[in-house]
Amino acid sequence: MVKVKEDVSSYNKRASSMMFHQAETVIPGGVTANIKHFSPYPIFMKEAKGSKLIDVDNMEYIDYSLCYGALITGHGHPQILEATMNHLKETGTMIFGTPHELEVEMANKLIELYPSIDQVRFANSGTEAVLLAIRLAVAHTNKPKIAKFEGHYHGGLNQMLVSVNPSEDQAGSLESPTPVIESSGIPEDEQENTIVLPFNDLAATEKLLRAHAHELAAVILEPIQGGFIPAEELFIHGLKKLTDELDIVLIFDEVKTGFRVDIGGAQRAYNINPDLTTLGKVLGGGLPVGAVGGRKDIMMQSAANAKGDVFAVGGDSAETTNVVFHSGTYNGHPLVLAAGMKTIRMLEEGYLLDILTSHTMHLRTRLEELYASYHIDMQTIGMGSIFNIVFTKKPVKNYRDMWQADTAFRKEIDMELLDLGIYLKPLNRYSMSISHTLEDIDKTVEAHEIALNRVLKRKYQQAK
Ligand code: PMP
Repeated sequence: MVKVKEDVSSYNKRASSMMFHQAETVIPGGVTANIKHFSPYPIFMKEAKGSKLIDVDNMEYIDYSLCYGALITGHGHPQILEATMNHLKETGTMIFGTPHELEVEMANKLIELYPSIDQVRFANSGTEAVLLAIRLAVAHTNKPKIAKFEGHYHGGLNQMLVSVNPSEDQAGSLESPTPVIESSGIPEDEQENTIVLPFNDLAATEKLLRAHAHELAAVILEPIQGGFIPAEELFIHGLKKLTDELDIVLIFDEVKTGFRVDIGGAQRAYNINPDLTTLGKVLGGGLPVGAVGGRKDIMMQSAANAKGDVFAVGGDSAETTNVVFHSGTYNGHPLVLAAGMKTIRMLEEGYLLDILTSHTMHLRTRLEELYASYHIDMQTIGMGSIFNIVFTKKPVKNYRDMWQADTAFRKEIDMELLDLGIYLKPLNRYSMSISHTLEDIDKTVEAHEIALNRVLKRKYQQAK
């Protein structure tokens, strides 16, 4: 058993605290992405290498956030840095602002790896990719609504910020969840175009899909919810059959799972070809990216022709209604694609993904054994190189099952881990990289044991 040095959380990151207070005066909430905030204040980082982050107090952390999964090769992998720098030197520019060869090369690579993809469009984020996928589906089917699953996140679009994290009293019935808008500033009527479905419940999903089939353009889902709750085989194959039958576009949002669950995403693991796929994160090797790929007949809706585009020369946009608008100053950014292409090539070589997956399983098993030895109900859930730690033994198949987990306990452990040099935004999922070593895993398990002892000791003292 590990000796407990301290009995209270020593979350005391002086420089981060000071920077956060400065940041708060000029940046709302002190962060530029709300996900990066946590109490009492987030940690400011200044350097990173491989599996490690270094904060502004010079403390080193093993990083399990990896920019929310984007950095599958870890921080600043020499091969990625070299490929990116060389690309800059060779082309002599940050961006051409015109079509270029690497777009075609990357499109071909995605088509090779994802059998469902015939054609590809690039964007700058997962959110933008989802925006395009939805618009394509609406144009293709000529139907107005989108169905999404409760608890699934698809970026910040109005129509997708529905029932991502609803409270128990708002969420409505299990079989027919109430759409809950998750942000202020979104007009109430936005939810009218979003149908909310229960994940991993085929019978209830079928009922809702059949009832709304006439007005549903698409069903979008994270095939592995939050990157860690897998769709059940029967459910996801049943969903595919239903969407085919009802002429509803099936969109797999693989922003998290792409290249992580399998090089060909969750769809390859499940052997399902969705109609459209959204990608992001790993695809950019750490630089901002999004992509939509899928069936040619749907993707071609966005093909501009001389007349039918809002940017048609001469101000003649009379036929724009025939074309799905998709544009962006930075779309297909060459530097991003150079970093992404190198990342994919690395993953393809040398069984790196297999090693990464087996390292992830090793960490999961060690953590499960540790908590079991303390008789604490804990399970790890996930696939490939992503997983989460959930403090309940009950099966977790959907968003509502997560309500049973002891998140207060998890938060206490996570805060202690931050003090012990393990970085994860509290309560978030774990992502691994090829830079994480067996030594990192040993240290992580050790830190968990110390964190657990601190939390247990504190609870014991409070109970006295
Ligand atoms: N879809 C999924 C499944 C995601 O996980 C995310 C980001 N976490 C997004 C869309 C949005 O991507 P981005 O943050 O790049 O806009």
